[in-house]
Amino acid sequence: MNTNDKLQNNFAIGEVNWKPGSDSRLEKLGEGFYNATNYGFGNVGIVITNEGVVVIDSTISRTGGKAIVDEITKMTDQPIKYLIYTHGHGDHVGGASVLKEQGATVISHRNVIERFNRYTKLRDHHVAINSMQFKRKQKIKNEYIYPDIVYDFEYTFELGGKTFRLLHGKGETDDATVVYIPEDKICYSGDFIVWSFPNIGNPNKVLRYEREWYEMLDRILKLNPKAIAPGHGRSLLGNEEVQACLSDTSAVLKYLHEECVMHINQGSSLDKMLHEISIPEELANSPYIKQSYGCLEFVIRGIHRRYTGWYDGNPTNLSPSPINDVNQAILDLIGNQEKIIESTRYFVSEGNLQLALHLIDLILTENPSDKEMHAFKGELLEQMSEVSNNLFFRNFYTVSANNERELAE
Ligand SMILES: [Zn+2]
Repeated sequence: MNTNDKLQNNFAIGEVNWKPGSDSRLEKLGEGFYNATNYGFGNVGIVITNEGVVVIDSTISRTGGKAIVDEITKMTDQPIKYLIYTHGHGDHVGGASVLKEQGATVISHRNVIERFNRYTKLRDHHVAINSMQFKRKQKIKNEYIYPDIVYDFEYTFELGGKTFRLLHGKGETDDATVVYIPEDKICYSGDFIVWSFPNIGNPNKVLRYEREWYEMLDRILKLNPKAIAPGHGRSLLGNEEVQACLSDTSAVLKYLHEECVMHINQGSSLDKMLHEISIPEELANSPYIKQSYGCLEFVIRGIHRRYTGWYDGNPTNLSPSPINDVNQAILDLIGNQEKIIESTRYFVSEGNLQLALHLIDLILTENPSDKEMHAFKGELLEQMSEVSNNLFFRNFYTVSANNERELAE
């Protein structure tokens, strides 16, 4: 560590310190308060006090963890005293071992323990679903750093004249912590804010909590923070931006919760809900809830799944025949595969690739190794991926298109 490095990091509040040659950057939220973004997947909070350093999250990997320790060492001689997990997702705990080696005491909500146990038990499943979601083969080592201190509702400690209030809430996970430092009105929100539509109803993941999510956002709003470091993306600076983000995200979740509950009470099917519920006009263009990660369709599915069972109201589906038998009966009735292919091509020409996919699946029922149909399906999925602005649709379609092409070889 040299003095020049220390001075370089002594920049003004609200300023961003870009690292040359990379998109890693330290954002300053207040004196001693930083949001380290793009040091790996997942932001890291750094709070430097005159009695030691508190780190909030650790990125997805040890490489990210090391980059964070390097950055801290450039700024201060103080030891790293605590590492707080905002929740137990891999992109927030992956670099924890590096911080632990530095002597950090790890604090989290109690449910993080159960999450780590579950990830270990379902390791192969998680490798598969995350490889699809993030479009690259995941390396999950299951070397979790379990917390030294856990809490249930709220946990407070002091260091160097700063109070660290850890508030538990549920949202994207059931083990979430928001860190608030009242002296400076600074908040580290974890994934309650990620610069995207909330990721509820993730296609392959366990239930998430839309009501508790907006309740926590409202709770943060009442604290009136002057800056928020989110779990991903750039910091929110100043009351105006903070309030706009919290209230837009809270409002959309509250609206969707109420709409879905109303539909469920009216006996609406999921299909009806998916096609009738939309985002209120005043929130549709909010920059804080773009549907780039979470999206309306998945949130509706998530809320419906949370409050109801799997039965869709049609007694035919209470104990259905195997789907292949159903498709085969329909195929026998049509009796002419050419007719289906012709119809598929018609839907493609009309731009309705989704309907075309359903028809291709019908043909694949009869001949699961029909290479031409796998190639055709792969081609359509590729096209669908290209026109989507949402991470899930893009990645699921791209990975599946590659799988279809392999089956076509
Ligand atoms: Zn995250």
